[in-house]
Amino acid sequence: MSTELSGNISTVLGTINPDHAGITLMHEHIFVDGSCFHTIPDEASLRSLANTEITAELIRHLGKHWNTILRHIQLNDFNKMLNELNHFVFSGGKTIVEATSIGIGRDPLALTKMARATGLNIVMGSSYYIPISYPEYLEHMTEDDVYDQIVTDITKGVGDTGIRAGLIGEVGIGGSISQLTGREQEMPEEKVLRASARAQATTGAPMIIHPSPVKESLLQVCEIVIDCGADPSSIVFAHMDVQTNINILETLTKQGFNVEYDAWGIEDTELIDSSDDALQLPNDNQRLSYLRRLIDNGYINNLIITQDMFLGLQLLEYGGKGYTHIIDNLKPRMKNFGFTTKEIDSLQILNPKRILTFK
Ligand SMILES: [Zn+2]
Repeated sequence: MSTELSGNISTVLGTINPDHAGITLMHEHIFVDGSCFHTIPDEASLRSLANTEITAELIRHLGKHWNTILRHIQLNDFNKMLNELNHFVFSGGKTIVEATSIGIGRDPLALTKMARATGLNIVMGSSYYIPISYPEYLEHMTEDDVYDQIVTDITKGVGDTGIRAGLIGEVGIGGSISQLTGREQEMPEEKVLRASARAQATTGAPMIIHPSPVKESLLQVCEIVIDCGADPSSIVFAHMDVQTNINILETLTKQGFNVEYDAWGIEDTELIDSSDDALQLPNDNQRLSYLRRLIDNGYINNLIITQDMFLGLQLLEYGGKGYTHIIDNLKPRMKNFGFTTKEIDSLQILNPKRILTFK
């Protein structure tokens, strides 16, 4: 479908010329409700954490109790988030892709206000996150219903707001990032994935997939989206920090898909208490060496760096690195590591611009 969106980037305030996108964070959350991850501990002494405010003495325990403290997995305070985003603006940031999908609190009106308040280009998501966040009604929707909903979000707007999604995603695969959704198992996300991929093929919109890092699942997802006619060059595989097997990454990039490193600044061994290899986050130097390897193998145009702000501990307010970590801290380090200005521009500006532009 060639529409008036073709050749443009679609933000919550309307389409923009891709040349105006500038420094872009390709996968973030500004307003998000991660309460689907909330767990109430068995221990009496820990239960009080569930509904507590985040105090100064709690900050160093946020990693350990990341999904116990409800406040920690909900970003929803307009003025606080405005302050966080203003730092990104002051550091030269221009565009934020807000990958919050339906089920984790996508918020068109709040995003529109935030775009006006900050002057940022904000691109809003569509489609659904992982199954534990699915709204009940989704069960009764057919693949065609989901497809229609996504196409409407993109071409007409969400509900009666007139505010259009400029992205399909993040489309969630897996109960958690570690859950194996192998071929031998039924894949409850397949309906949403197929509907999303078909909507991508119809609208030419960019799409972000939150995949399971398990090889079989990744390959299955690739097969499904290609089968649905989607364009790999518009599709980003998120959360690839944990994917240390370069062969798997090259299997994606060779087909034209984009690979995203999005946990920069986080290597907290408390964060996810797991012995699962798939959840062992690298540090930033290791991420840089993975990037280098892929660039040296010819994939500079398929790489995305972004921060996936989702948890309180990532905010400046709670001692995190904020939305400016890549600009303020990583970019100087990349220069020291021998990344050229051209390569850095590709990662921060040109690749997001190309992917966000409707075909
Ligand atoms: Zn995700």
